[in-house]
Amino acid sequence: MSRTPLAEKLRRLIEANGPMTVAQYMAHCLTDPEHGYYVTRDPLGRSGDFITAPEVSQMFGEILGGWLIHVWDLCGAPSPVSLVELGPGRGTLMADILRVASRVPKFGVAAHVRLVEASPVLKARQADALKDSSFPLSWHASLDEIPPGPMLLVANEFFDALPIRQYQRIAGEWRERVVSLDAAGELAFGIGPGRLANGPVASEGATLEVSEPAEALVDQIAERIATDGGAALIIDYGNQRTAGDPTLQAVRGHRYTDPLAAPGEADLTAHVDFGALARRAIAEGAAVHGPMPQGEFLLALGLLDRAGRLGSDADEATRDQLRAAVERLAEPYQMGDLFKMLAITQVGIAPPPFSAALGDKQPRPICAA
Ligand code: SAH
Repeated sequence: MSRTPLAEKLRRLIEANGPMTVAQYMAHCLTDPEHGYYVTRDPLGRSGDFITAPEVSQMFGEILGGWLIHVWDLCGAPSPVSLVELGPGRGTLMADILRVASRVPKFGVAAHVRLVEASPVLKARQADALKDSSFPLSWHASLDEIPPGPMLLVANEFFDALPIRQYQRIAGEWRERVVSLDAAGELAFGIGPGRLANGPVASEGATLEVSEPAEALVDQIAERIATDGGAALIIDYGNQRTAGDPTLQAVRGHRYTDPLAAPGEADLTAHVDFGALARRAIAEGAAVHGPMPQGEFLLALGLLDRAGRLGSDADEATRDQLRAAVERLAEPYQMGDLFKMLAITQVGIAPPPFSAALGDKQPRPICAA
């Protein structure tokens, strides 16, 4: 039985208003102003619930920093430019990016760093991680607050935290899954009255997940990039599948748990549907590159060289750590395959290491279940 303070609040809400969508449940769990998972804690690191790529090694952020500066150059080195990060966690990725960026004086003059963060706890961590940076910095509640103009945007493990709606294929229809109460008054999944029209055909029992906030955010990013110039790099785990098994998952203390077991005290995420995001970005008039597996991207941009250089004067223990970090970031059985990089850019540039030729705006084929 779930006894978290948020579980009590959700029970009362469901008793009063009826079942809620999976998206509403996720939004309460992650960002409830009183008990939301991200609002109340720093979830990252060994003592937290999960570890992300920038927390594995500085090499991740350094390579991304090099990519962003290169792409800024390809875009004609616009000045001023906003360097935006969505959900910067502990600020580690941005600190690593800025270490690389600070070696490019003309970028130092052009860039204003803008962090979009919902969590007061993590904002404080970010301020601390970036306190020695020479770049102007500001925090924003959403992308709407960021002034118009060219933008370089990065988002690592941000889109997976945006709420999804779930539909299940039942008797030839897509019926919406909801969170309701069972006979004992416990939170339980059920099927609500909602139906999705125009969904794909799929086998009985298949699940379709749709993230309206993720799609709306990509519309906004792509529209800005198509109009004002720049690029975005979205890194997350997921595939191009549009229907199949449910991917909503809860992680607590580095272990998977039942998504209904501890609302507000476990991280809740879902795989990102890169096919859907790519289609939306193209429809807004931006160019799309990828998605490409993280391992392929990092290796093509010199992960092994970087590890070699960092290890050249180091002791054996540090070299072991570097080897382990390369493995964790790039090996297919670790983060290398499941995590993908999707770049959205102004049209007419061909950023490495995506092989897409100039003007190639087609995402890779979508595989349905
Ligand atoms: N990018 C970081 C952290 C990933 S965790 C890393 O790779 O280590 C997800 C991040 O997104 C956290 O900083 C969390 O507080 C933030 N976040 C989640 N939902 C958000 C929302 N709706 N608006 C703004 N920030 C959000």
